[in-house]
Amino acid sequence: MDDAAVAVDGDGRIVRVAPWRDVQSDGSPGDPVIDAGDCLLLPGLVNAHTHLALSDLAGRLPPPRRFSAWLKAVMRHGRTRSHDAPAAAVRDGAAWSLAAGVTTVADVSFSGAGAEALAESPLRSTVFVEVFGHSRKRHTRPEPRLAMAVARARALAGLGLSVGLSPHAPYSTGVAAYLAAMAEADCCGWPLTTHLHETRDEIDLYRTGRGPMARWWQLRMMLWFGGFTPPRVSPIRALADAGALARPWIVAHGNYLDDADIDLLRRSGSTVVYCPRSHHYFGHTDHPYRRLAAAGVPVALGTDSLASAPSLSVLDEMRFVAARDGAPPENLLAMATAAGADALGLGGTVGRLAEGEVADLVALPLSGGEARDPWLALLTCHPVPTGVWIDGRQVVSA
Ligand SMILES: [Zn+2]
Repeated sequence: MDDAAVAVDGDGRIVRVAPWRDVQSDGSPGDPVIDAGDCLLLPGLVNAHTHLALSDLAGRLPPPRRFSAWLKAVMRHGRTRSHDAPAAAVRDGAAWSLAAGVTTVADVSFSGAGAEALAESPLRSTVFVEVFGHSRKRHTRPEPRLAMAVARARALAGLGLSVGLSPHAPYSTGVAAYLAAMAEADCCGWPLTTHLHETRDEIDLYRTGRGPMARWWQLRMMLWFGGFTPPRVSPIRALADAGALARPWIVAHGNYLDDADIDLLRRSGSTVVYCPRSHHYFGHTDHPYRRLAAAGVPVALGTDSLASAPSLSVLDEMRFVAARDGAPPENLLAMATAAGADALGLGGTVGRLAEGEVADLVALPLSGGEARDPWLALLTCHPVPTGVWIDGRQVVSA
């Protein structure tokens, strides 16, 4: 919409999106007006998968030969840094996200460390407390690790944060943890996220019990695989067979999916989060985001953490995919906003510039001839946000 205005009420809700001349006549004299100048006004961007507590790893890990080597380096970093480091990393990550026009994040947090820093940030966040490690206990008795994650999530909810749970991945937590997390999430009304089919190695492990990941977990981690019997099916099929896809998940990555996996995800109502530059960093083969969308599986965008991505900018992810694939910009914008919001259960609240939604907005400056083609300006000219609003309140001004 050209020469547009967004009218916002005193509670930060959008009451009208219309040409300025129409909105102008609705208001009363003395209503505050912000003239954002020549700019693109977009819904605030939604980062549907990140780990803000790893923001202190920015630029420190070169691309690994093996995913497991990278994961080991990240875990070593987590064990050796200072007690205050996670909160400082979260604080930095939140500030960098806002400056990049990101207004909502799905932040996956190992044991919730440092996540309390988000309670002081205007950034809209859902903190998914991560569960690692196996237990052979049946899902009817929540495992100790899950119980700790639930307690941590409740404590963060007590600070006013939105929370959820995240069994890390089938290979690192076991299917029972998924069922236990589902039971907790269903009873608390929490969303769930997890990493699925990020690497070929994890699929090999499940299908054959062999490969680099099997060697790592069996011999080095000594967690569980002494008693592991490969189910001889994909991790997604194994979860579905156990009943763990009986509700929607926010599925990070989904880098390697066959048609049967995609159909199982579609039937579960799950959303896949594609993290384009992290995907590129690890040297994965083409991501199936177009096959997913064609099959009716929503796809959102995420940055992943700064341990594998160069920035926390979802706009940069859009630009990367647009330059490489020529993907339609309308689709990319929906992946960067509404798809992530819907997956987080925030559909109708954020993700769109529409009446009744809250005013989470980002203004990107245009200059000269670019204004004639706003998509071109957005995707090729790299404008930096000059204004960011959350709940109708300006939180970034350049
Ligand atoms: Zn992740």
